[in-house]
Amino acid sequence: MSETAEDFAAAIRTIPDYPKPGILFRDITTLLADAAVFRSAVDRLVDPFKTSGVDKVAGIEARGFILGGALAHQLQAGFVPIRKKGKLPHETIRIAYSLEYGLDEMEMHRDAVKPGERVLLTDDLIATGGTAEGAVKLLRELGADIVAACFVIDLPDLGGRRRLEALGVEVRTLVEFPGH
Ligand code: AMP
Repeated sequence: MSETAEDFAAAIRTIPDYPKPGILFRDITTLLADAAVFRSAVDRLVDPFKTSGVDKVAGIEARGFILGGALAHQLQAGFVPIRKKGKLPHETIRIAYSLEYGLDEMEMHRDAVKPGERVLLTDDLIATGGTAEGAVKLLRELGADIVAACFVIDLPDLGGRRRLEALGVEVRTLVEFPGH
């Protein structure tokens, strides 16, 4: 559990101009493939919430699923997926959201969270915060009490953290990268 922000940064691969020119894609597959760093990242993300009574971890498709399953296991919580539209088989609620490179819609099962349940939201990275804001709104529509939102990576210049904090959501991240 001794990894620093520099260690996390070193474990993340940066791909210039992916998926569009001008984007520096922060690829966490290299972090996930490193047993010690992956474990440490999960431990560090859940650490402040071990005694917060988290009922469920909500993960945003797709990289949020990988982290979310591990976080839920550590917290002895359930896991619920927030998916791109058309993927969930049962009755859903849906929201449109903007992201750093495009527009999309996401869905949750209507019965995924019960009113008053305490939920920790997770994804690999927060940029503009559009994706996470959509997820917060979906969760709140179901009556969730959002404990916090946690991400491995923050791109602080894009303002996502402030956007979530303005919604009253605590934000935890492990490493920051300047710019896009
Ligand atoms: P945003 O809605 O702008 O906060 O964008 C966050 C979502 O887009 C997350 O699901 C990220 O995985 C993805 N994303 C945005 N920017 C990047 C980036 N520079 N590198 C990798 N993933 C990104």
